[in-house]
Amino acid sequence: MTDTPLTLIVGAGLSGLAAARTLADAGHRVLVLDKGRGVGGRLATKRVELAGETFRFDHGAQYFTARDPDFRHAVAAWQAAGVADEWADDFPATPGRAAAKRDPYPRYRGTDGMTGIAKHLADGLEVECGLRVVKLSVEAGGWLVECDTGERFHATNLVLTAPVPQLLALLADSGLTLDATLLADLQKVEYAPCLALLATLDGPSGVPDPGGMFAGPEPVGWVADNTQKGLSPIGHAAVTIHAGPEFSRAHYATPEADVTAALLDGAKDWLGSTVAATTLHRWRYSLPTVVYPHRHAEWPAAPAGRVFFAGDAFGGPRVEGAYLSGRSVAAALLHGTGTT
Ligand SMILES: Cc1cc2nc3c(=O)[nH]c(=O)nc-3n(C[C@H](O)[C@H](O)[C@H](O)COP(=O)(O)OP(=O)(O)OC[C@H]3O[C@@H](n4cnc5c(N)ncnc54)[C@H](O)[C@@H]3O)c2cc1C
Repeated sequence: MTDTPLTLIVGAGLSGLAAARTLADAGHRVLVLDKGRGVGGRLATKRVELAGETFRFDHGAQYFTARDPDFRHAVAAWQAAGVADEWADDFPATPGRAAAKRDPYPRYRGTDGMTGIAKHLADGLEVECGLRVVKLSVEAGGWLVECDTGERFHATNLVLTAPVPQLLALLADSGLTLDATLLADLQKVEYAPCLALLATLDGPSGVPDPGGMFAGPEPVGWVADNTQKGLSPIGHAAVTIHAGPEFSRAHYATPEADVTAALLDGAKDWLGSTVAATTLHRWRYSLPTVVYPHRHAEWPAAPAGRVFFAGDAFGGPRVEGAYLSGRSVAAALLHGTGTT
């Protein structure tokens, strides 16, 4: 047993891991819990076994940019460690659809999939996966954190990085009430859903170089060839098809067969080979569309310790925003600073 204060972080996505890494490197005790099978959250890489071959897909974040000097520094370290590299300067877009790029920044990828970056950050940290936090309560002046498995942890400080609606539900389920101003600000945060279809093909795809494009019109918004991206074996293509925001919202609960048919039809110009197998992933919270205006929020009169809210919806959005949010919480804990 030790009396050193423990900061418990809910969520091993990029924001939680950036906070944990920074705190641990500064000598703080940190424990990260995640309900997923592994780390990464929306930095997600999936394996599909088919006919004796393993196909790999990035099915959450596809690429990222680095504008802020702090994040650029992190990306340079990831490049030096071999877990990230430049994917492209730009991506093509369907004629008539404006390309998203309006800046000079390169687009980066995880060299072993986007999850590889999260695994790299988590290396050497105390991280436990497969544990969904279901209740937070105050006990002996600190926090008691209870998981769906029955496991319980004690902590001094909390950093909560799940998507905001899930955080608010966790607080409500725990019978905890935030002050009215913070609650009202957090309730304004919104996310777009995204339906992601992962298609294994019998041969090469028709996705143009460099293996990703802003496709359209809806139902499709983006297609990527994970084989060209360097993730999946050469030969048969492993294609990620992201539905556009309107289709994803309207068809979030539509049966898989119908969504699959619509997306395969919408993406037929870029498939190039026969589809061998598909699997659908439904992201309820993909990209924040209404963000909290600062890089993190702190519960001003928390009933114990210090409690922070972080993630890509805080000053975000996207991969860079998630990283900077985690760093902002760490700065607040280490130095009493950070952009709140
Ligand atoms: C389909 C899709 C496409 C995207 N494309 C891009 C892109 O091209 N470029 C880009 O920059 N960004 C993209 N993004 C966004 C990017 O992935 C996110 O901004 C970033 O990864 C968010 O990190 P985070 O740490 O804030 O949240 P998350 O990665 O969501 O991490 C939160 C973690 O909390 C865990 N959790 C939640 N509740 C609990 C609980 N009760 N107990 C324990 N653990 C819990 C979750 O399992 C999760 O791992 C995309 C996202 C999606 C889904």
